[in-house]
Amino acid sequence: MSVIVAIDGPAGSGKSSVSKAVAKQLGFGYLDTGAAYRCLAWACLDSGVDLEEEDAVAHQLATIADDRPLNAGDQRHTVGSVDVTDAIRGPEVSAAVSQVAKHPRVRSGLNDSFRALAAADARPGIIIEGRDITTVVAPDAPVRILLTADEETRIARRQAEIDGVDAGALIARDRADSKVVDFMSAADGVWTLDTTRLSFDQSVEAVIDLIARHTDISTEAGQ
Ligand code: C5P
Repeated sequence: MSVIVAIDGPAGSGKSSVSKAVAKQLGFGYLDTGAAYRCLAWACLDSGVDLEEEDAVAHQLATIADDRPLNAGDQRHTVGSVDVTDAIRGPEVSAAVSQVAKHPRVRSGLNDSFRALAAADARPGIIIEGRDITTVVAPDAPVRILLTADEETRIARRQAEIDGVDAGALIARDRADSKVVDFMSAADGVWTLDTTRLSFDQSVEAVIDLIARHTDISTEAGQ
């Protein structure tokens, strides 16, 4: 069983790119839980499922054949035989995903699958990133981090990642998501890492430093 490093944060905080870089550097697994919600939203849109219907969305989750890649260097996502890697980052899925993620039964089903994946992973550690990892999925993880950045910085970072990203849509998604889980303020024992004034490399270093201080795992591993 891998040691879990739990990282939460809002859209554009840099948590995915920082988490991936840390996982690569340390030879850890990497689980992007947002991608699982996005694959589910894609599958619901593809099959015409009413996103407001919890039963229908939960049924879609029970039948979805998506893979959850744990290799930070290979984050290709498929649903059935369809490669959805690009589609799940598109505006349709981004606009629909909060609706899917608000259903409690969907959340608990996905959370069970995340815990099972971490339990079965043989690497020394696994970084799990999302919105409720520090509080719900892995509240006992030895390293729990809330990665934040101010709104202007988050929008600029997301715009640099995806051409023509809509700032209003990003803010609206964070607002909708915040009604379901609180990822804007750190829960007790969760370390807040504000990356507004940190470079990418400094953010990666800060996460590795926290892992070194709070686990027995050698942070030299995998380098
Ligand atoms: O991290 P990302 O922005 O790709 O997440 C996409 C969406 O998935 C979020 O906007 C949120 O609705 C949902 N999500 C969630 N809980 C998580 C991860 C993502 O509700 N742990």
